[in-house]
Amino acid sequence: MSDRQRPILSAVLPVFQEGAHLGEMLAQVDRTLADLNQPYEIILIDDGSYDDTWSVIMEESVRYPAIVALQLSRNFGKEAALLAGLRIARGAAVITMDADLQHPPELIPRMYEIWCRGDADVVEAVKTFRGEESLFYKTSAKLFYFVMNCISGVNIANSSDFKLIDRKVVIVLLTLAERKPFFRGLTEWVGFRKVRIPFMVAERIGGTSRWSFFSLTKLFINAVTSFSTVPLSFVSLSGLVFLVFALLLGCHTLYIYGSGRAVSGFTTVILLILITGSWLMLCLGVVGEYLGRVFDEVKKRPRFIVRNTINVSHVEDRD
Ligand code: UDP
Ligand code: MG
Repeated sequence: MSDRQRPILSAVLPVFQEGAHLGEMLAQVDRTLADLNQPYEIILIDDGSYDDTWSVIMEESVRYPAIVALQLSRNFGKEAALLAGLRIARGAAVITMDADLQHPPELIPRMYEIWCRGDADVVEAVKTFRGEESLFYKTSAKLFYFVMNCISGVNIANSSDFKLIDRKVVIVLLTLAERKPFFRGLTEWVGFRKVRIPFMVAERIGGTSRWSFFSLTKLFINAVTSFSTVPLSFVSLSGLVFLVFALLLGCHTLYIYGSGRAVSGFTTVILLILITGSWLMLCLGVVGEYLGRVFDEVKKRPRFIVRNTINVSHVEDRD
């Protein structure tokens, strides 16, 4: 609201199906921010939840005047929800964090202190220990960071969406008009001075993580294709390798033909058809992914659509 004091700190929390424990989370975050003795706001983005999340937010906003909230018209995904939050955040520093208390609010004072000293434009909390996630989750996360680092040069190993971001970086992030933003990658890509502090990933306060194997794969493809065109060069390179291979095999076949032993080699033919066939499909798939991205960007559809607001002075109903 325009008559509100301009906050120094804005906490941005995307919320999806967290109605059950929103109260406890808010109590902790509000207490932590209040202890810093600076004007603050708590921005909640309801990412199209279909439980009681929005009604809980409305109730809590009476108790906590610092609450500013947006309800999106449907589930747009965490990245879009974060972006919507950044759009309306007015603080000199913006803290992004999860709403399930896996990002411990106790860390906020330290982040704030580092930012106050002027040591960093972005204070980033990096995971040192993951709760009790499955071995599969840990292995795929490691593999993901490794691949990302190798092919895009953007190092986001163990990074999380728990960050304190200076206003000037937020402004830059908001000018990046990608339709499918990958927030962690973008904050790394924009540069600026970063300080990393380790933290232990807490257990989820309730509910379950919304990531399925499928959605993680989608995130992976999104992250890779938005930060690197190496897979495309890889396609051309593999084409070249296959060409060399085909030439060698061609010579070999001709030689066999010349020496009158041509009938054998049925297995080789079948294998070659299978290998080249699958490889071609894979390469086409890679090209298709990038084409899909271009298609998404060209459509210029909004990244999120706002359905309802609480205490928001001005926001476009879409972005
Ligand atoms: N979230 C969201 N939209 C979604 C999925 C998740 O806004 O489509 C929010 C969720 O409410 C939480 C944060 O993003 O605040 C992290 O989600 P989650 O705990 O499911 O992910 P994980 O901690 O397993 O990475
Ligand atoms: Mg979580």
